[in-house]
Amino acid sequence: MTEVGAGVHVWPRTWEMLKRLGLEESLTKLLATPPKNEPTIIFQFRKADQPGGVLLKEWISNDAAVRFHRAELQKALVDSLEGRCRFHLSCRLQSYEETNEQVRLRFENGLIAECNLLIGADGIKSVVRKEMLQKSGRLKGDEGSIEPIWSGEIAYRGLIPLERLKQVMPNHRATKLPMMHMVVYPITQESVVNVVGSVRLADEGALWAGPQVTEVPKEEFEQRFTGWEEEVQALIKCIDKPTRWALFAIRPLSCYAHQRVILLGDSAHAMTPHLGAGAGQAIEDGYVLADILSKYSLDLEGSLKEITTHYDRIRRPFGNWVLRESYIQGMRSELTAPGLEGLKEGDAKPPMEKLYELLETMVRTWDWAWDTSVASQHTKAIAKL
Ligand SMILES: Cc1cc2nc3c(=O)[nH]c(=O)nc-3n(C[C@H](O)[C@H](O)[C@H](O)COP(=O)(O)OP(=O)(O)OC[C@H]3O[C@@H](n4cnc5c(N)ncnc54)[C@H](O)[C@@H]3O)c2cc1C
Repeated sequence: MTEVGAGVHVWPRTWEMLKRLGLEESLTKLLATPPKNEPTIIFQFRKADQPGGVLLKEWISNDAAVRFHRAELQKALVDSLEGRCRFHLSCRLQSYEETNEQVRLRFENGLIAECNLLIGADGIKSVVRKEMLQKSGRLKGDEGSIEPIWSGEIAYRGLIPLERLKQVMPNHRATKLPMMHMVVYPITQESVVNVVGSVRLADEGALWAGPQVTEVPKEEFEQRFTGWEEEVQALIKCIDKPTRWALFAIRPLSCYAHQRVILLGDSAHAMTPHLGAGAGQAIEDGYVLADILSKYSLDLEGSLKEITTHYDRIRRPFGNWVLRESYIQGMRSELTAPGLEGLKEGDAKPPMEKLYELLETMVRTWDWAWDTSVASQHTKAIAKL
């Protein structure tokens, strides 16, 4: 995970898996309090596009979502591997060639390496995905999945020390609650508030000409949310150096694996962040793949076909589904999804019933993160195969 300073949600489905991997103790140390099995506010939703915003819904559940500072989560995960694998940093993959016996990797620094199975976890701009689609002859139909496409949205992000927000607005709800007027929740043992505000500028697939991520003046962030409620203004005021992210994704792929090459994480299903699920899906890929590999470890060479087929059949339908749902969830929160005609941002008197219905749909869209488990889905899929 490349991004350093921002929050990352881990939903109960992913948390359960991290616990099974024995990471509960080390990861819980990063939280102010361990997740409790009691009614907890997951998010408070507000109609915030007007002065004096309105509370629309409190999403309450027994299983809490856990929220980390991305760099802290990443460090804890890397630390947990200590002594069990070797990292070779500063090696950028340029291309690979596959023979019947192995995969030969060529790096930008001139290094060459060989392996019997290549797992491409090289992110949204994946070189492995590009090469795999071209070499596998699976390109037909997947042409639009090689390069990421702009979703038409941008997101402003920033982190605020909690104490600063308290000084600027002592009773700001975000000092106590995770909120959705923008997406706002506490990280780093609840000492920092993570803020993300997304805006649609164009339709999916439009051309984005600027840098993908850049620091922007605070005034740009303020302008996009002019007229929004006071708490939103206070959040923006507290962010000295906001960043602007053009949100990219790929189109769902028709294969996640071919011969000796497997795609994992954003390289397989880079998605927009509206379900807060991209990193979680990457972790699921890793968990399922590790389990499949361990089952075939005695005859890896003889079982390559089974390994790639199982992985692809188990992970692709779910990864692709989350990818598309994430995009649609974004359209819902921007009031541009089909069926939301009649709702528009900034409307002081919108049809409230429709707004409540929308929030019910949005919350239900996360049911999978509560009601399903990777382990049981995986066991059932393996049994079927
Ligand atoms: C605004 C925003 C908010 C988000 N919030 C959440 C959230 O709350 N919860 C959640 O689950 N997800 C969230 N995500 C999504 C999440 O950030 C990604 O899905 C996740 O980082 C994907 O992990 P990855 O390891 O597959 O890819 P990456 O994190 O992109 O890591 C890829 C790695 O590969 C390396 N690499 C790239 N190319 C090469 C090459 N050629 N050779 C060698 N190495 C290479 C990179 O340096 C990097 O280290 C969010 C994303 C955004 C933009």
